[in-house]
Amino acid sequence: LTDFKYSHVLVLGLAKSGTAAAKLLLANEIEVRVNDINAEEDEESVIALRGMGAEVIVGSHPIHVLDDIEVIVKNPGIPYENPVVKEAQQRGIPIITEIELAGQLVDESIIGITGSNGKTTTTTLIEAMLAKSNQPVKVAGNIGNVATDVAQTLTKGEKLVLELSSFQLLGIEKFKPGIAVLLNIYEAHLDYHKTFENYKNAKHTIFKNQMNEDYLVYNRDDSTLVDAVKKAKSQKIPFSVMQREENGAWVDETSIYFKDEKIIDRESIVLVGKHNLENIVASIAAAKLSGASNEGIREVLTTFAGVKHRLQFVDTIKNRVFYNDSKATNMLATQKALTSFAQPVILLAGGLDRGNDFTDLIPYLKNVKGMVVFGETAEKLKSLAEDAGVATTVMAKDVQQAVETAYSISQENDVILLSPACASWDQYRTFEERGNMFIQAVHTLV
Ligand code: ADP
Repeated sequence: LTDFKYSHVLVLGLAKSGTAAAKLLLANEIEVRVNDINAEEDEESVIALRGMGAEVIVGSHPIHVLDDIEVIVKNPGIPYENPVVKEAQQRGIPIITEIELAGQLVDESIIGITGSNGKTTTTTLIEAMLAKSNQPVKVAGNIGNVATDVAQTLTKGEKLVLELSSFQLLGIEKFKPGIAVLLNIYEAHLDYHKTFENYKNAKHTIFKNQMNEDYLVYNRDDSTLVDAVKKAKSQKIPFSVMQREENGAWVDETSIYFKDEKIIDRESIVLVGKHNLENIVASIAAAKLSGASNEGIREVLTTFAGVKHRLQFVDTIKNRVFYNDSKATNMLATQKALTSFAQPVILLAGGLDRGNDFTDLIPYLKNVKGMVVFGETAEKLKSLAEDAGVATTVMAKDVQQAVETAYSISQENDVILLSPACASWDQYRTFEERGNMFIQAVHTLV
């Protein structure tokens, strides 16, 4: 840690990132106290950290864990209402996240991606575009692998692509990405951030430490962002799917461009959906700024089928095209999926009943010629489909049967789409399990 000025640190919340942060601090001969309310005395990480010299307090959050502490490394999942965190704020103890530590481990410029939606897809695309351009690169952050762990394994010249949540960004001091990507800001996560203003500000911290040698790639079509980025000191690179951007990435009917240069024909891109077009254009801007080649970018876009369970292309069988959008656990996500296709769609939907009303789905069902419904919401969705004038609606007992039924009522050139608009927990442990069942059922069709 090159630039760490604190000598006694409280790591609040263990999990993967807290454990990694504590180990890193200990390895740098910094005094560490760890506090986690859920961890058990005999847990492997607790034993390991004690063995390395950390003081570990588990089972509660007593206020005395703050005694003599100079800084807190807080797990992003712990809310600011937590009594220890509140007290620390009162006392003026700085609160950072593991991302701040990761930033100090990396000499090369970091590519950081944030936004309400599209982070994982964009992060994955940028990493792939650089890799296919023969640039050494690793990916970490909110996407799953702990940033400090990955940061320690970077070799010289290797780039780090970091997916950043607003929760992670709230705890930065000096962290700055050389290239920041700001995708969009929707009203989300208000339970944690309390107001939309706070939430926006958390996202804006991605560029707060940037200087004029850095780049800020931002969504020109999101009016809340256009205003916000005026404060940035970095070079602003807009992306848009609505208008020409001479200084950024943009699209017309047929192609995608970066500045004046045509990068790719839209026709040859595998990913579908307007939202993915935004992610693609943002990725192209960041990848080009980072030195990716047009060939590398094209290779990714002509083969990448999407992040698993997110409007993922699965297969084409007898001219029926199958997509797995199991991550669509609410109606908004399903609306987005349905706007992605011009062809007739057979929609597979249903799942946990949270008592919500699906009426706002009706305008999106124009292209839907058939619906196969399952799970707790099956009845509700069936009557909705009938109200919307969907030609055929069938009930199925589970996803597997839904695939068979959908196939049996389909014709050539139909899209068969799993986009359930509901959580999976009535029948499946996770949306991943549900999506995997879908993929498996598709592959056993013939
Ligand atoms: P995140 O990592 O931010 O959750 P993902 O890339 O995992 O985002 O996409 C999750 C879902 O969010 C997608 O299935 C889609 O419904 C929606 N989505 C993705 N990209 C965008 C975007 N650019 N704008 C709006 N919604 C999007």
